[in-house]
Amino acid sequence: MTTPSPPSVRTLIVGAGISGLATAAALSALGDDDYLVLEGDAAIGGYCKTIHRNGFVWDYSGHFFHFKHADIEAWLRERMPGQKIRVVEKKSFVGYGGRHIDFPFQKNIHQLPQAEFIDCLYDLYFARAPLHAAGDATATAPPTPEGNFKEMLYARFGRSIAEKFLIPYNEKLYACDLATLDRDAMGRFFPHADLSDVIRNMKVADNRSYNSTFTYPEGGAFEYVRALAGAVHPGAISVDEPLSGLDLERKVARTPRREIRFDRLISSIPFFRLAEMSGLPHDASVFSWNKVLVFNLGFDRKGPRDVHWIYYPDRSLVFYRVGFYDNIFDSDRLSLYVEIGFPRDGAADAEALRPRVLADLERAGVTAGHQLVAHHSVVMDPAYVHITRRSIAEHGRLIGEMRAHDVHSIGRYGGWTYCSIEDNIVEARALVARLARRST
Ligand SMILES: Cc1cc2nc3c(=O)[nH]c(=O)nc-3n(C[C@H](O)[C@H](O)[C@H](O)COP(=O)(O)OP(=O)(O)OC[C@H]3O[C@@H](n4cnc5c(N)ncnc54)[C@H](O)[C@@H]3O)c2cc1C
Repeated sequence: MTTPSPPSVRTLIVGAGISGLATAAALSALGDDDYLVLEGDAAIGGYCKTIHRNGFVWDYSGHFFHFKHADIEAWLRERMPGQKIRVVEKKSFVGYGGRHIDFPFQKNIHQLPQAEFIDCLYDLYFARAPLHAAGDATATAPPTPEGNFKEMLYARFGRSIAEKFLIPYNEKLYACDLATLDRDAMGRFFPHADLSDVIRNMKVADNRSYNSTFTYPEGGAFEYVRALAGAVHPGAISVDEPLSGLDLERKVARTPRREIRFDRLISSIPFFRLAEMSGLPHDASVFSWNKVLVFNLGFDRKGPRDVHWIYYPDRSLVFYRVGFYDNIFDSDRLSLYVEIGFPRDGAADAEALRPRVLADLERAGVTAGHQLVAHHSVVMDPAYVHITRRSIAEHGRLIGEMRAHDVHSIGRYGGWTYCSIEDNIVEARALVARLARRST
């Protein structure tokens, strides 16, 4: 008896989040429908899912869109007929010592009490310009090293800004020693500012950043997923079917249901899982990450207005950030997302933590006797990958070896990087265009 040969596709796409769906849509746009999308979860969308509960609309923590490519925004909007989309001017703050400082903290130190302002300005000045400190011991000191993320924070902003905000906030978020991260671990998402920017901001506020304005659809972030999925060949997505094994030499993928032969594979699943399945020798210990427990909380009445999110460096508060969905659509009940960072092996127990979160929201002044009427929680694991020198090198080496087998790893977790949803779409389109050029 002969074993029937497995079904085959030209392109096997693994993961139906933004990256996988954008890949499939880009192939279809070129007239190539010879692909299959495998999704391990019961639903498409990856981290871009939306929950509707008791009249509240929640994402897996606020998922806002900062488009740099007008053509991508227009393409998506065309596929969202009837959907109300708001363009919002972001209002974000740092909750510090019982007051709200405009974000980014480093450009708004003049809003601190005078003694703290002087500490920040003094340390910033001498961190940035040690040679100007005539008569000071630092006058002959070599420039402070910037060998890692933590050193970069001290070197560029000085001790006070680093220790009042940048270090405690990022330690709460990344849940790791910041000295282990690469200096550029946050890439373009880190709000750099030099001494002139800080001084200028004291008179002329300019707190613009990559996300100064954002767009958000009334139906939640999933509307963008729906738009992408609408451009995917009907019947080409198989949900509840995770990739469970991979034979790079034979070009065969395994799932709990079947084997699938492919010419090329494009994956957006977390890279450490793909690396493990590939069987390529590698050092798995270089891939580390945090997880984020997100609480979506709906209350009985309106809360603070004119704020979209607040960052909390205070280590006695369990969360690092709180966002206000209700101030995007001016709805009349307080609707929050609350984010808590954990190491990858930390116990992110939502039931146990909810009372603490509610108590800390009161203490931080976000709620004032509000009654919780609906809630939801999700653990994003991985959430923020720890970009280190070793992860960059090992990822780069493995990506090269996989590419030789026509296996490509993309997306936030396939690329083991820090990026936005729009970046995911740009990357998927560019890969499809490159592969198409190669095969013509
Ligand atoms: C806390 C947080 C807040 C964020 N906020 C924003 C924001 O406001 N704006 C923004 O632009 N970006 C934001 N992002 C980033 C954004 O979520 C990602 O860039 C984007 O969702 C990544 O999409 P993806 O398709 O690459 O990955 P994912 O969404 O992770 O999709 C991967 C898919 O692969 C599936 N999968 C996993 N394993 C397997 C397997 N073995 N077989 C088959 N399928 C599998 C998963 O179920 C998932 O559907 C945020 C991220 C986090 C963590």
